[in-house]
Amino acid sequence: MSYVVRSNSPSRQGHADITINVHQKLPRICIRCGDSTKRVSPLRYKDAYTEVNPYDWARATPFMIFIPFFQIIAHVLILARIWQAIEKRWNRRKASTNDLTFKIPHCLSCSKKRPIIQRHFDFHGRNMIVDAHPAFRGSLS
Ligand SMILES: [Zn+2]
Repeated sequence: MSYVVRSNSPSRQGHADITINVHQKLPRICIRCGDSTKRVSPLRYKDAYTEVNPYDWARATPFMIFIPFFQIIAHVLILARIWQAIEKRWNRRKASTNDLTFKIPHCLSCSKKRPIIQRHFDFHGRNMIVDAHPAFRGSLS
């Protein structure tokens, strides 16, 4: 069961998009129906890190090792590959410590029937744009 859906469908009457920062203190008002609630739906985001490998080292390295002329290049490639592995691990660790959790006020009945509508999510900016009930918006400002 997911508490959130991504949607670009038009907002219902009175509803509008708002930007929520992960550190922001949110009112105790359900974002979907506007009722008072202490319940929150935690939205967790693991990382924005994706493994991008611009070069196919796996294919290039064994081929080059068997050609003496390219031995120096092969060594450079191996070093680059080791460095890349270290960097990858480091990035992964960095990403995992940067997990984001948004605690969005969301009453029990809405959490079952009406998921939070997310318009946009920005990991690096630590914010997201969600559709919000007018009462929620009103108490934010
Ligand atoms: Zn609700």
